[in-house]
Order: sequence, then C-alpha cells, then structure tokens
Amino acid sequence: MDKKTLRNDLILIGSLLLVAVISLIFVLTLKTKKNLQAKVYVQNNVVEVIDLSKKEEKDYYVNGLHGVVHIHTKNGGIAIVESGCPHQDCVNMGYVYETNRPIICAYNAVYIIIEGKANYDVEI
Ligand SMILES: [Zn+2]
Repeated sequence: MDKKTLRNDLILIGSLLLVAVISLIFVLTLKTKKNLQAKVYVQNNVVEVIDLSKKEEKDYYVNGLHGVVHIHTKNGGIAIVESGCPHQDCVNMGYVYETNRPIICAYNAVYIIIEGKANYDVEI
C-alpha cells in the first residue's frame, strides 16, 4: 500500500465516522423532539399530561386557583389561551414548542412544563 492510498483510506474512514456521528446526533435530536409531552400542574399537582408528539389541535380546561384556565395545543406546541389573571402574562407567552420554556400563570397557580417522555428509549 503506497502512501497516497493510505491517506485516501484515512480520509474515507474519517468522513464515514463524521457522517455516522452527525446522523446519530440528528436522530437523537429528532427523537427527543418527537417524544415531547407537556405536564400541567396546579399547585404542584399534575392534573394533565398532554402528548405533544401527536401534534393534535385540542382544548384542555383546568381548574386553577382563581378560575378555569383554557389550554390549547396545536402543531406540537402548547399555550394558555384564556385565563382570568390580571396581567395575562401566560396568555401573552403564546405557543411553546421547547422544553426550556415553562408557561407559568402565578395567579392561577398553573404551570405547564414540556419535557421528554419518561419512557424515552434510545434505539441504536
Ligand atoms: Zn396568567
């Protein structure tokens, strides 16, 4: 094996490894995003677990501390669309699609937290 062939082989192996790593990251990211669920808390109790991976358009009504909070899901996102709170901060947040942005309605003691499913499994 001459030097040129060896170098070409190394480049080939390197590229293959890179492609493998990138696809793995891509698959894992995709899978995590697919398996999101939203947990709705009222005063630290889970009152609703909503599967966001189905991307369903659906309404949920939970009894908050001071009244009913209207939650809506669409396209894999979730939002509080109606709440009796004075500042409407939760409503103004709009739809959330990521795990790192909780929706909080302090007035009604309602919290919505998006997380990956507990039964999340890695298939390689
Ligand atoms: Zn609110």
